[in-house]
Amino acid sequence: MADETTPVAVPPASTPAAAKPVAKAPEKAKVVAPAFREYPTIPALQVDAMAESNPYVAAAAHNESVGFPGTLVEGWEQKAVAKMGELLGKYRSLRVYMDACVHCGACTDKCHYFIGTGDPKNMPVARQDLMRSVYRRYYTLPGKLFPKLVGARDMTKEVLDDWFRYYNQCSECRRCSVFCPYGIDTAEVTMAAKEIMHSVGLGHKYVNEIIGKVHKIGNNLGLPGPALENTLEGLEEDVLEDTGAAVKYPLDMQGAEVLLVTPSADFFAEPHVDSLIGYGKVFHAAGISWTLSSKASEAGNFGMFIGNYEQMRKIAMRVREAALELGVKRIVVGECGHAWRVAYAFWNTLTGVGAGASDPFAIQLQKQLDPNYKQPSHICEVTWDLIQQGRLKFDKEANDHRIITFHDSCNVARGSRMGDYAGGQFDIPRNIIRAVANKYVDMAEATTREKTFCCGGGGGLLTDELLDLRVKGALPRMEALNHIVQHDGVNFMATICAICKAQFTKVLPYYGFKMSMVGGVHQLVSTAIVLNNEQ
Ligand code: SF4
Ligand code: SF4
Repeated sequence: MADETTPVAVPPASTPAAAKPVAKAPEKAKVVAPAFREYPTIPALQVDAMAESNPYVAAAAHNESVGFPGTLVEGWEQKAVAKMGELLGKYRSLRVYMDACVHCGACTDKCHYFIGTGDPKNMPVARQDLMRSVYRRYYTLPGKLFPKLVGARDMTKEVLDDWFRYYNQCSECRRCSVFCPYGIDTAEVTMAAKEIMHSVGLGHKYVNEIIGKVHKIGNNLGLPGPALENTLEGLEEDVLEDTGAAVKYPLDMQGAEVLLVTPSADFFAEPHVDSLIGYGKVFHAAGISWTLSSKASEAGNFGMFIGNYEQMRKIAMRVREAALELGVKRIVVGECGHAWRVAYAFWNTLTGVGAGASDPFAIQLQKQLDPNYKQPSHICEVTWDLIQQGRLKFDKEANDHRIITFHDSCNVARGSRMGDYAGGQFDIPRNIIRAVANKYVDMAEATTREKTFCCGGGGGLLTDELLDLRVKGALPRMEALNHIVQHDGVNFMATICAICKAQFTKVLPYYGFKMSMVGGVHQLVSTAIVLNNEQ
């Protein structure tokens, strides 16, 4: 295709009357779980089945608090097209994704939202085409000359409405890209679309509210330092009462060896907190000094969900500041899928953890961190290393009431790695589970490891107004789970993602399962670990 970068035929500037939110807040969604299928067949098409599924549009205050225009700006059509041009220039991959698709159809039935809803616009290729049609119109010669012949469309309000609807029905899970012969990554297209929408003032309420809370208070849940301190003291009392061991959950401890950055859900939500208890027990049993930070009290980074690198960087910077202030030697990330992806893939260049940045603070941090450890490390890497060194003891029978399976979380499975070989991110959590429990069963091969299905709540979609979409999107994972529940008696699904835990807690009951059957890998570690009460 042509390589022009100057847009043409931009639609006329919008009138002030158009400068208002393009999508109304939906009425309370009706939530319907699809029936389990006997075989994993391609669903019958249900045109526009999810045309009413919209997230709430962010209020002006929420958009402005994170640096975006409050409402849809005047002339948004040209601005959106220009932003697309900027992203096409910045990310070569985006242009390749726009040009390379041959519509072979290999991705069509690979998206959990298409499988769960039957809406053809939830086929990954159709989701890409929402942007591709606009790209063709303004950035390719055939699209400029013969738009109808090549499926090119003007950037109109109707198109923008479709973008808002269907790019917010993509959890950026990357499953479709595993099956695409050209490696086209729909998640990257979705992120670019969200960045364009935010740049013209069409923001996502849930995501922008959360980003605002991180900047203002330090974490997604908006928990201030004193509340964290109280919670951690309470955990110390509970663990002492349960085990007789004085396990500490320190906050802002100067000079600790490890800074643990974990999703804020770990402080309060169930079952997340059980994994936090487990991390503390691991450090206690191994005799490693560690601390949490009130400044970096959130591992999650919603900047990634809206494709905005500046927000990602601002959020990630809190971790670097906390590490420098506390003088730690190691940075460890708790159980959170997208947090680990950001830490693994982006912290290096965003913050200078490792050798990716060269400003004075980055160099100071590089000198401060211990080169004998991978920086950052995942808590599963830490625990698995300690297990291999024989530094942790377990009573595996303590987990005998559980028949366990493991759900690979998308951002860990397809956006990062663990250990020192490809696939370590699949093996290490399973190795830990097998080291702490006797009964383990994997789900079907087509639904695990790099082919894992999203929980249905990732990518900034974990919000109540999208519950129907989330329940439907969980169908393939629930089917795979149901199979081993029926055949093997599985009663516990472990995962290492805060969003997966929250999503499954909510959707499991819609499929007839108990919400308590989901939990963390370190929840299992916590159950089985043998603590030295003298420490
Ligand atoms: S939700 Fe996942 S599988 Fe579906 S289009 Fe988005 S990245 Fe692809
Ligand atoms: S698999 Fe790749 S090339 Fe084929 S339709 Fe999907 S995105 Fe296009």
